[in-house]
Amino acid sequence: MSQRGDGGDGGRETDGSPAYDGGPVAALRRIAFLLERAREDTYKVKAYRGAAAAILPLGAEAVAAAVEDGTLTGIPGIGASTAKVIEAAVRGETPDRLARLEREAGPLATGGRELRAALRGDLHSHSDWSDGGSPIEEMAFTAIELGHEYLVLTDHSPRLKVAHGLSAERLARQLDVVDAVNDHLGGSGFALLKGIEVDILDDGGLDQSEEMLARLDVRVASVHSKLAMAKDAMTRRMVAAVGHPRTNVLGHCTGRLVTGGRGTRPGSEFDARAVFEACVEHDVAVEINSRPERRDPPTRLLELARDVGCLFSIDSDAHAPGQLDFLAYGCERAEAAGIDPDRVVNTWSRERLLGWANG
Ligand SMILES: [Zn+2]
Ligand SMILES: [Zn+2]
Repeated sequence: MSQRGDGGDGGRETDGSPAYDGGPVAALRRIAFLLERAREDTYKVKAYRGAAAAILPLGAEAVAAAVEDGTLTGIPGIGASTAKVIEAAVRGETPDRLARLEREAGPLATGGRELRAALRGDLHSHSDWSDGGSPIEEMAFTAIELGHEYLVLTDHSPRLKVAHGLSAERLARQLDVVDAVNDHLGGSGFALLKGIEVDILDDGGLDQSEEMLARLDVRVASVHSKLAMAKDAMTRRMVAAVGHPRTNVLGHCTGRLVTGGRGTRPGSEFDARAVFEACVEHDVAVEINSRPERRDPPTRLLELARDVGCLFSIDSDAHAPGQLDFLAYGCERAEAAGIDPDRVVNTWSRERLLGWANG
C-alpha cells in the first residue's frame, strides 16, 4: 500500500494501516486543513481543530498514556471520532479519516500552476478576531506550511458588526499580537503582515481612523453594504475609495456571490472602466478574489482591468487555514485571462510589496 504526502515512506505497516510518524496533533491539524480546503462546514472541522488544541499542551507522553488507559475521551474536547485519529497516530498508523481525505484531495485547479508557484504570499485573510474560524497564529503556521513568505492579516473594520469588525482599540491590540507572533516565528523567513479589510463607506471614505490605517502594512478596501446602490453613486463611491491615499487593494469589486451556502446575488453596478482607471492612476491593485463563491471580478471585468493596465492581487480571502489554499482558483482564472505575473503584486518580494503599499 502506498502513501501520499510526506508522512513517511509507507514501508512499515501495522494491521494493514500505512505508517504515520507525524503524531496526533499534526494528524488532527491536517484533517482540519483538508476539510477546510474542500469547503466543508466549519462545524465539522471544529472538532478536529479543538481536539488538536486540547492535546497540544498535554505533551506526547500524557497523550500516549491516555491512549493506553483508554481515557482519551475523558479529556475535554476529545470525542469518539477525534479519539480514533489520536489512537492511530499514537500507534504510528495513518488514521483512516486522514488516509481517506488525502486520497480524495486532488489539485484544486488544473490551470494556473506556474502562476501559483510564483506567488510569495497572500494579501487577504481573516482570523477569529473578526469572522474567521481560527486564531491568528494558526493562520500564520498554515501559511508557512504552504510556503508563503508573507501573509497579510486583514480582519474587518468596525462598521461590519456581523463580522465582529475591529474597533481602533482592538486593532491596536491585534497589532501587538502580530508583533508577538512574528517574534515567536523569528528566523523562519516568514512574516505576518499587518493589514485590514476596511469597509468602503457610502461616500467612499474608509471605515478606520487615519492613525490606524497609517500603522498598517497593507490595506484592502471593500464594499460590504448597499451593494445595490445606483450605478453613478456606486462609481463615485468606489473611485473615491480607490483615490484614498492609504488604499492598496480593491477587494472583491462586484460583491457578487455565484454559489454556496449564503446563496447567490448579482454584482454591484458601476462604471468599471472609470473605477479601474482610478486604480491605475492611484497604483491600487484590483483583487482577484479566489473564493469559489465569489470568483470576483467576473471574467469580463477581469479582462477589462487587464486591458486598462491594472495591477492585481490574487487573494484567498481565507476565513480558515485550509482556505489559504484557495489561491489555486484565482491563479487559474488569472492565467486564463492572460495576466502577466509581474503585474500580480503578490509575486513580488516582501520588500517590493511593502515599498509599493507604503510608497
Ligand atoms: Zn470582504
Ligand atoms: Zn475578506
